[in-house]
Amino acid sequence: TRETLERTLAQLDGRGYASYKQLHGSYDLGSCQLAIDHVQVDPYAPPSKVRAIVDRATSDLPKELIDTPAHRVAVADFLTRRFRDAIDRLAPRPSGGGGGPISIGAPGQQVLARTSVLIADDRVEARFQVELPAAGRRALGRNAARLLTETVPAIVEASLRHANLDAEALRRHVELYLDQEALRSALPERGLVAFVGDGAVLPRRSGDSDLPLTDGATVFESPPSLRVSFDLPSGRSVTGMGVPAGITLIVGGGYHGKSTLLRAIERGVYPHLAGDGREWVVTSPEAVTIRAEDGRAVTGVDISPFITNLPAGTDTTRFTSTNASGSTSQAANLVEAVEAGAALLLIDEDTSATNFMIRDQRMRHLIPADREPITPFVDRIRPLHNERGVSTILVAGGSGAFFDVADQVIALDAYVPRDVTAAAREIAASDPAGSGVEAGSGPAAARSGPVFDSSLPRIPTAEALRPRGKGKPAKARGRTAIQYGHETIELSALAQLVDPAQTTAIAHILDRLASRLDGRLTLAEAVTELYRQIADDGLDAVSPHTGHPGILALPRRHEVHAAVNRYRELALRPPR
Ligand code: ADP
Ligand code: MG
Repeated sequence: TRETLERTLAQLDGRGYASYKQLHGSYDLGSCQLAIDHVQVDPYAPPSKVRAIVDRATSDLPKELIDTPAHRVAVADFLTRRFRDAIDRLAPRPSGGGGGPISIGAPGQQVLARTSVLIADDRVEARFQVELPAAGRRALGRNAARLLTETVPAIVEASLRHANLDAEALRRHVELYLDQEALRSALPERGLVAFVGDGAVLPRRSGDSDLPLTDGATVFESPPSLRVSFDLPSGRSVTGMGVPAGITLIVGGGYHGKSTLLRAIERGVYPHLAGDGREWVVTSPEAVTIRAEDGRAVTGVDISPFITNLPAGTDTTRFTSTNASGSTSQAANLVEAVEAGAALLLIDEDTSATNFMIRDQRMRHLIPADREPITPFVDRIRPLHNERGVSTILVAGGSGAFFDVADQVIALDAYVPRDVTAAAREIAASDPAGSGVEAGSGPAAARSGPVFDSSLPRIPTAEALRPRGKGKPAKARGRTAIQYGHETIELSALAQLVDPAQTTAIAHILDRLASRLDGRLTLAEAVTELYRQIADDGLDAVSPHTGHPGILALPRRHEVHAAVNRYRELALRPPR
């Protein structure tokens, strides 16, 4: 009970920090139950993990708002944000700056499935972290008592009880989320891979901010020829630009907003908050950004559709490198993404290897096909769609090479899109020599039959993710790296990994995969099994901890594949 907790804390006031250990346990505070699942060993260790549990009856969330798993994702996101607001109000850092002693993660502009708030049949649980107060290495038991028995219940009261929430804001939050997800599921039946709503604000405040540009942003307005409308479950109807499946080219002068549009589409795989500006930028969930990433490791990837006959006789059907070049890394990224189920590739000239993308006629004349290992993407973009159903949205302001293969061409002029497909076709027809495409130009192009169907399955060995000497679990270092055994898995090239809590979840998922791999399952099969379990048991299921699962957010399976593929000690079973 509250008294037990207060008494214990009063007793350990002024004693060594380690005496906090005895707090481990569960306490009935009246308005909520407090479960202290993990107590930090010293003031500098990762903070203690605490759950606050409220009866469903007490929390009183309307039943119709928590009907389905999708509803619960949206409600949990809302409650997490209100919990964080209450922390800022009731438990700020004494100096005012930075985070206070209590934290629940920092959800950004996206709405993701998270472990921070659990909505179960009988209860609502907040999972947060507390830095137990210290003076030097002594426990400040009385301060801790105030924090845990007064501040925490006040935060819980403000954020988990329906009566204390803005009910209308909550309803709108859920409605917006469900509308966005409904639009996403409706894309395929309309033959679309992405949608950008009229009125959207795509540019961000700065290169290191995900907040909308507020001053002087040109709002999005769809070109009439690509305009489509959707009627959504809430009764709302939205109109905007539909990007059809197939090959879409985004062109336009430098600084006219091409990359900004592509980046918004790339983030459109996630739902966004009201006011973000990208609420109605909605993309196929299977969209993956492909870029050059020289220096990455590649293990056993069939990049032969793009690269064959390397000078040293390297086998490109099982390409392995500790230090891939710009073009080979981009080819590997693409083939791996398709293996992971990508249905839409997003490619920006700014982050591509030119020799991977195109080769012009002069170069084709100077360097004979049999001396050039690369068949550029411009020759492969069409087979990729015809053979594998993979669409591409490509930003190419510097070359007209893709005019011949594009299904639609969108030009940005001072941030305003126009459909210039007809003009581009005319140019392509009147000037075939300017084309970058030439059948039979590269050695791979000379192969007859399909280009993309030959890949052997990639089967990791049973020990593939269990490096020798790896005693410790995988550990996320911020959003962009995972420490795994002696290796660091570098993830900064993954544009669609948006939250450090996703990276933490990927680290746990790697440990789960490690024990699942048996030398028979392909990587894709192992990941699929794991995601089935997450769908059944929730994201908590990937955590190694019972009780408080840690601060996790659901990553896409694409980013899980990407992390495994970037692991430098990944070992595959040799093909038979
Ligand atoms: P490009 O890729 O065509 O060279 P960018 O997308 O990088 O251009 O955009 C150039 C600049 O214009 C960036 O600073 C970006 O934030 C800004 N910008 C992009 N779209 C808009 C818009 N719709 N309204 C205002 N500024 C924008
Ligand atoms: Mg650009």
